[in-house]
Amino acid sequence: MPKMSLLTSCAKVRPLDVAIASLGSKSPDCVYLKREWRSLISCLLAQRGRRCEVCGRTGCRIFGDHIHELKDGGAPLDPGNIRLLCGSCHSTKTARVRAIRTRETPTR
Ligand SMILES: [Zn+2]
Repeated sequence: MPKMSLLTSCAKVRPLDVAIASLGSKSPDCVYLKREWRSLISCLLAQRGRRCEVCGRTGCRIFGDHIHELKDGGAPLDPGNIRLLCGSCHSTKTARVRAIRTRETPTR
């Protein structure tokens, strides 16, 4: 396999067109930026412990994950809809749900 220089590989990365980039779910109205969310996650971390509820990992950043995602109508501040996950488990779950949503969303 031929080696690719950093310059060659970087040349293949297109610059981000900020005119079409969206803020997505991280807009100022986003639940994740609100005090209620941060307070709820702090409370859940105190109650459940700072460990991933899927793999049990500790000593890492823990994310509050909506079991039933907000895009799919999940309750944003219901503790029963929130799992505490490590970054790896959170990324895996998010990618899986996104793939399912993409398959189920008809293309235009
Ligand atoms: Zn995990």
